[in-house]
Amino acid sequence: MEKQKCIKRYAQAFGVSGKETQISDMIIQDIKEYADEIIRDAMGNLIVLKRGCGKDKKKIMCAAHMDEIGLCVVKIMDNGLLRVKRVGGVSALCSFMNRVRFENGTTGTVGAFEKIEDLKPSDVNKLYIDIGAMTKEEAQRYVSVGDCAVFLGEYVPLAGKNVMAKAFDDRIACFIQTEAVKRMDTPYHDVYFVFTVQEEVGLFGSTTASETVCPDLGIAVDITGSFDVPGEEHGNPVLGKGAAVKINDSSVICDAGMTEDLIAYAKTHHIAFQRDALAAGGTDAGAMNKSGRGVKVLGISIPTRYGHSPNSIVNLDDVEACIELLKGYVSSEIKIVTSEKIK
Ligand SMILES: [Zn+2]
Repeated sequence: MEKQKCIKRYAQAFGVSGKETQISDMIIQDIKEYADEIIRDAMGNLIVLKRGCGKDKKKIMCAAHMDEIGLCVVKIMDNGLLRVKRVGGVSALCSFMNRVRFENGTTGTVGAFEKIEDLKPSDVNKLYIDIGAMTKEEAQRYVSVGDCAVFLGEYVPLAGKNVMAKAFDDRIACFIQTEAVKRMDTPYHDVYFVFTVQEEVGLFGSTTASETVCPDLGIAVDITGSFDVPGEEHGNPVLGKGAAVKINDSSVICDAGMTEDLIAYAKTHHIAFQRDALAAGGTDAGAMNKSGRGVKVLGISIPTRYGHSPNSIVNLDDVEACIELLKGYVSSEIKIVTSEKIK
């Protein structure tokens, strides 16, 4: 129950890209007694160190992003409606007629300037937010140009071990990382758990945090699809079958040898896992991979139905499998080969 309370708090926090303070403050509170060092950098990334004890220890960077998608006000119209643009991968169809909320608590619903049947998912510029204001002046008392709203999506336990809320992308992974920090004994390598900012708009936080940490191995912890609903069958992971181990996605090709090492760890420790070759979508693994002189990366993902919607669904057994796999693997004496001199 404690666990669910924490997942609920993280998912319900406001944290559109660039405004991650509320969720990062929660994370700091929850892990400060377990971490050896916590730095909030200029971008807003939280860099949390669990210091290793190995004699030839290296640096592992795990990354879960704190930000969520949203709608940004570009213009307040004379009739009080708010014109918007997308922040991250927002679908116009998912947004239509849903409730959204601004950081100051102002709430509204999303309408469209055209018939919804004529809209494509990318037509976010054809949407507006209605906060109930009847004039521009009235709306300006609640909202300014540049303010961003996020979906309202209450946390609800569903049948079995499934739970639903907004922003499981990527707050469920923030929870997985904080649990790993709490449950971990002294690791072999130095492990940097990074809670990144601005992933949804282009992996911005992980791009700079990778340069700060200079990892020898990167692990992205993020959601992936759950390919067990009609129209979403072009992939392997499904709800309830364990942690998804990333082979690749559109931002990265994970290190093949280390991926097999991670899978071997899961098998040895009887942690349920599923292989994941994701057709569309990227993660912080892409940024870590291409940082510095190049970094080997891995991905541990949570199968999620209806990601980037107010009603995303994950399975608590999958979440547990991800925590155990992440915590166990990064604590262990992983053999990390970076660049090798051949001659
Ligand atoms: Zn994500």
